[in-house]
Amino acid sequence: VAEGLDRYVHLTSETKDGCPVRLSANIEMLEELSAVLRYGSEGIGLFRSEFDFFQGIRPPTEEAQLATYSRLLATMAPHPVTIRTLDVGGDKILARFPGNKAWLDRERNPALGLRSIRFSLYEREIFRCQVRALLRASVHGRLRVLLPLVSTLQELRQAKEMIHDSMNALAAEGIPFDQDLEIGVLIEVPSAVIMSDVLAMEVDFFAIGTNDLIQYSLAIDRGNQYVAHLYDPFHPAVLRMIRQTVDAGHARAIPVSLCGEMAGDPLCAPLLIGFELDELSMRPAVIPWIKRLLRHSHSGELHLLAQEVLHCADSGEVRACVTDFFQRFY
Ligand code: PEP
Ligand code: MG
Repeated sequence: VAEGLDRYVHLTSETKDGCPVRLSANIEMLEELSAVLRYGSEGIGLFRSEFDFFQGIRPPTEEAQLATYSRLLATMAPHPVTIRTLDVGGDKILARFPGNKAWLDRERNPALGLRSIRFSLYEREIFRCQVRALLRASVHGRLRVLLPLVSTLQELRQAKEMIHDSMNALAAEGIPFDQDLEIGVLIEVPSAVIMSDVLAMEVDFFAIGTNDLIQYSLAIDRGNQYVAHLYDPFHPAVLRMIRQTVDAGHARAIPVSLCGEMAGDPLCAPLLIGFELDELSMRPAVIPWIKRLLRHSHSGELHLLAQEVLHCADSGEVRACVTDFFQRFY
């Protein structure tokens, strides 16, 4: 931990006036757990479970997944661990699976294709196996299951039905699991934002995935260097969508986190806290930086900044507001 920041590792993450904001970690491998603990993370806000699926030529077995998830949960307990179900396709191609069954690598427009929850609902055996491993691991800590790229209510309901079917199957087999585990949806396509008031009625939490939300709302390929200058987290459309999602979640009393790269960007974090996000999840090493920022901020000032940017016409104006804010308060 950088000098001067080490004292923040053990301090609570809250604003100057005592409003708590959970700062948690985005990781994809167990090897990162030591960093998670070192930087004082209060949980895992995003475990990208697909990493293990890229290692071999077939999906990891239920037992192998169980071992990974159990270790995650046990290490982080009593903090919550959010495990995202398989998020393949788009920029995350399962190229090594035998035959590849004609999906994924032959799609003309993979970002709009058979990815994430769509893949899981298509290759149901792979999903069922992962869900069983998640449920079995849930007795070791506090599990939150996160469903990626949901764009319709029907997808959410189908995924939840499969989870409940697996719960019934495990109960019949006499295998324990946590009945209270939470199920949430990753808000990362515009349709999910627009329907977030409806989705909020059917889940225990929201996580906002701005990496994809920016891509899909601004129609900018997140991996394309020629349009990278247009990939802009300060676009007011993106900010209004974040605000709308937080409001929809809170209207139903469910917590809302944000786990895109924006969460760990010091220029974005004050805004996000001003939008009343309950949790920001980021690369472990940036947690002390954001915590320092948080502890030097007053929630009232952050709320005013957040209100102000919602009236901006373009990202240039947003940037000017944020720069002015930093000059006044830090
Ligand atoms: C996101 O889309 O913002 C996100 C958190 O996930 P990923 O970058 O893995 O798609
Ligand atoms: Mg995503």
